[in-house]
Amino acid sequence: MKKITILGSTGSIGTQALEVIRDNPTIFKVSVLSALKNSELLIQQAKEFKPEVVVICDESQYLHVKEALSSFDIKVLAGEEALSEVATYPQSDIVLTALMGSVGLKPTISAIKAGKNIALANKETLVVAGEYITQLAAAHQVKILPVDSEHSAIFQCLVGEEQNEIEKIYLTASGGPFLGRDQDFLSTVKKEQALKHPNWVMGAKITIDSASLMNKGLEVIEAKWLFNLDVDQIDVIVHPQSIIHSLVQFTDGSMKAQMGVPDMKLPIQYALNYPDRLKNNFKRFNFLDYPSFSFQKADMKTFRNLDLAFTSIRKGGNMPCILNAANEIVVEAFLKDKIGFLQMSDVIEQCMEEINFIEKPQLSDYLETDKHSRILAAELVTKSKV
Ligand code: MN
Repeated sequence: MKKITILGSTGSIGTQALEVIRDNPTIFKVSVLSALKNSELLIQQAKEFKPEVVVICDESQYLHVKEALSSFDIKVLAGEEALSEVATYPQSDIVLTALMGSVGLKPTISAIKAGKNIALANKETLVVAGEYITQLAAAHQVKILPVDSEHSAIFQCLVGEEQNEIEKIYLTASGGPFLGRDQDFLSTVKKEQALKHPNWVMGAKITIDSASLMNKGLEVIEAKWLFNLDVDQIDVIVHPQSIIHSLVQFTDGSMKAQMGVPDMKLPIQYALNYPDRLKNNFKRFNFLDYPSFSFQKADMKTFRNLDLAFTSIRKGGNMPCILNAANEIVVEAFLKDKIGFLQMSDVIEQCMEEINFIEKPQLSDYLETDKHSRILAAELVTKSKV
């Protein structure tokens, strides 16, 4: 049995991971579940999966959760700090980091230091501190198994190619709901439009990031660290059908792609049971449903966030950390109708210009940068006019 800790069990990735676990009760066992504030779903999950420990980050709900689970042999903890504690839980084999945003950084570090393999769904961890995390994982001989569908695709394409050099990778992008639109159009869009993703059902934050192409920018940075590439070896290609999940091009020009119907349960299952594939009855791809695939260049002039992400990783140091922190603030503001779609890029760019650049950050520098960038971004949001 593989014993699993899920950090962020009530979100989109967390609930889909539990579906995979439910379908494979002889293979997986849940050790730890944690939720930010959705205590009702957490309680329901705990009653079904009977973990040894649950964490509710919102401390005001601790007593409610504790009471609801009082007849079960389940330890209940509260607070964000508890995430780092349960990330090291001795009985667990693998930690699925499905938290939203840079809050995933500290628990991921704790899990790596405790020698736990990481199923990484929290891409922000690698965006904020990719160099630090990948070096730490190497030092502790811990595997980072990507859950992000594009990175899972690359990871699957690389199986059996350990001795071969990568020339280039192509991350595919759906283009999101605003593909082909211009800035005039984007200046008027509201969250309801941005939240309608054509191919993938995801949480609100990543759906907005997909509409602005920031998600693809974060994925470029994630890929750089996961696969130890130069930025120039990473290209983004828009593929609106989202069937090819990404591609690797080797030094002889040969390309490998991983394909399938868009369903996050597949990369989740692959990461949790790596290196073995598991049988399932997920929907199968039918060629005749897709008589043609199409590809186009990503429009970085209209969707400036992708350009800003490339700029940040070329600059390196704490710049991607600034980009990520500012982005988390502006996405939250956009979801509350406090800022326009295009202004999100303006705020991020201004933070990248104004926050102190640190070329070789220590862990404490990342944490400080994250804090300061959030404060500045929030100020800029307040000053902006919708
Ligand atoms: Mn992705």
